[in-house]
Amino acid sequence: MKKFYFITTALLFSVFGSAQERKGDPTLTEMWTPVPAIIQPGKTSQGAPADAIVLFSGKDFSAWNGKDGKPVAWTIEDGAMTVKGGSGEITSKQAFGDCQLHIEWRTPSLVKGEGQGRGNSGIFLMGQYELQVLDGFNNKTYSNGQAGSIYKQLIPLVNASKGPGEWQTYDVIFTAPRFSADGKLQSQARITVLHNGVLIQNNQAIWGGTEYIGIPEYKPHAVKEPITLQDHGDAVSFRNIWIREL
Ligand code: MG
Repeated sequence: MKKFYFITTALLFSVFGSAQERKGDPTLTEMWTPVPAIIQPGKTSQGAPADAIVLFSGKDFSAWNGKDGKPVAWTIEDGAMTVKGGSGEITSKQAFGDCQLHIEWRTPSLVKGEGQGRGNSGIFLMGQYELQVLDGFNNKTYSNGQAGSIYKQLIPLVNASKGPGEWQTYDVIFTAPRFSADGKLQSQARITVLHNGVLIQNNQAIWGGTEYIGIPEYKPHAVKEPITLQDHGDAVSFRNIWIREL
């Protein structure tokens, strides 16, 4: 009997409640501004949206500087750039803060070396925070150094690596760290990464600048900083790099 009473009451409340809602003004909860800008997706031949800055379309290094500001010594072939080991990292001419980055990469099909010595490169957001590029296929290494890690910090959720010689994608959403005027850290950088379409970093806080040895820490830097691609000696290739400022 008690149960029946509760069910009846709940039913009456739900009917009465929805009738009340119908009597209210639905326009009170509508927001008409701001109107999101219209962006044509897949606008360029590379599939970049119309508001993206294309950093590499396969033709030239016009968006990049080589080591110490010199011309880039890496090679371009078949629409891809490839690290020339020993020639040094390359750095985007333009600086970026909060951004969405799309980048495609490929480790050499000829497998040699192991661990960190196999298909190693990296994408240094703001020149400081390395999203690791590595042959992650049957290649044992420390988890916070494998492909898709934030090097020596954040372990990827899963290993979504394709094999050596295959093109892979990273889609990155990056929030830059914030520093106060006196250089104190106000908020950590945050990163979300999809590797070959699979979520591997889910809005993770980055601990500080990438360090090979020791504990990472934040050092104050500009609101926008260039992106660096690492020369780790391996002939890793990149193509179709585009970025949207957020
Ligand atoms: Mg690396």
